[in-house]
Amino acid sequence: TSKGLKGYAPICLGLEDFYTRRLYLRIQDCFSRPIASAPDAWIDVVERYSNDNNKTLHRTSNTTKCLNLGSYNYLGFAAADEYCTPRVIESLKKYSSSTCSIRVDGGTTDLHNELEELVARFVGKPAAITFGMGYVTNSAIIPILIGKGGLIISDSLNHNSIVNGARGSGAAVRVFQHNNPSHLEEVLRELIAEGQPRTHRPWKKIIVIVEGIYSMEGELCQLPEIISVCKKYKAYTYLDEAHSIGAVGKTGRGVCELLGVDPADVDIMMGTFTKSFGSCGGYIAASKEIIRYLKYSCPAHLYATSMSPPAVQQVISAIKVILGEDGSSRGAQKLAHIRENSNFFRSELQKMGFEVLGDSDSPVMPIMLYNPAKIPAFSRECLKQNVAVVTVAFPATPLLLARARICISAAHSKEDLIKGLEVISKVGDLVGIKYFPAEPPNH
Ligand code: PMP
Repeated sequence: TSKGLKGYAPICLGLEDFYTRRLYLRIQDCFSRPIASAPDAWIDVVERYSNDNNKTLHRTSNTTKCLNLGSYNYLGFAAADEYCTPRVIESLKKYSSSTCSIRVDGGTTDLHNELEELVARFVGKPAAITFGMGYVTNSAIIPILIGKGGLIISDSLNHNSIVNGARGSGAAVRVFQHNNPSHLEEVLRELIAEGQPRTHRPWKKIIVIVEGIYSMEGELCQLPEIISVCKKYKAYTYLDEAHSIGAVGKTGRGVCELLGVDPADVDIMMGTFTKSFGSCGGYIAASKEIIRYLKYSCPAHLYATSMSPPAVQQVISAIKVILGEDGSSRGAQKLAHIRENSNFFRSELQKMGFEVLGDSDSPVMPIMLYNPAKIPAFSRECLKQNVAVVTVAFPATPLLLARARICISAAHSKEDLIKGLEVISKVGDLVGIKYFPAEPPNH
């Protein structure tokens, strides 16, 4: 619109929408593949067939064992675990699968309180509150923290749950270039003067929202630089650690630990239990005052059924293993393993000539496909060779930036990774996605 192209944007968006709908109909077998097992290193993928001109896919009872390169099961806790699983089964027997009640009625068990104390201790904040769903944690909490008269400055690639929370808050929303602290400063400088006291600004409150590891990019947040900009302009920081908590840092405490940031410098720490902890739900960790305020004012806490007790028990047990409080060194081993696995897989893919996004230590590594038409070829050929991959495209990415998003787990053995690399290399040649020259083998 700045170049006088008013009116074209909706047409382009309409075309993108039309195109992707047609494309997705033809490649629906590459998405929502049913699986019939835990999301471990290997999974049972349910075979599907189509007998009505590719319109509907039907399940069969046959399954195929595939190497799983797509789940967020970063530490391997989503599969049976010698410490977690017996405790989860006991909690299921004791509490059942649901509290059938909201937190302020009968929905708070001793387990919920234990989890909130443990999460606060784990992430290094004074208090925490939990929710039944990670998505809701962002979309319901952001509007409680800020509203009309406030200003949210959000990374351009923040997750949809953050975007929805920001839009629903009624605050003004500005976007800064992805993971670019200088651009964040430019945006802030345009809106407020440096050092201006909070009380003299046109905004009641300013919150900057970023993620620890960006799920479609595999990149680590430039957190130290972002925090120093926020301090300079007296803005609050909100950090979504869905993909980083438990997965990175020497003791699994996420990007703060990895990048040497004091958790006291992050005002609101958000995370989910659906990745490294192999469970479901989400948390906010912050000062005691903020958490007390959320407990008495957030509808998602006051009106929604609390986390399922076995899910709570799963997170408690997983954190205890990570902290070594189960009496073993398995947590430390898992953390070392995911780091080694991720760095090995990423560097081998790069040597083969793939364009891989993201930073070292990140278990998320998108392989660029670019053209969305490469999605079915890449996904189906990998599946034929018993490797299950996740592909992502518009609207989760821009239309011509389709990618395969590989997620590495501590549950993968070296042999698993070598098998995955062999298959991806062959399929990469077939599909034509090795955009760089391969490195010669170093022997
Ligand atoms: N935040 C981020 C950054 C995410 O990637 C996701 C989902 N993967 C969520 C929040 C929502 O979490 P959940 O899937 O646990 O609901």
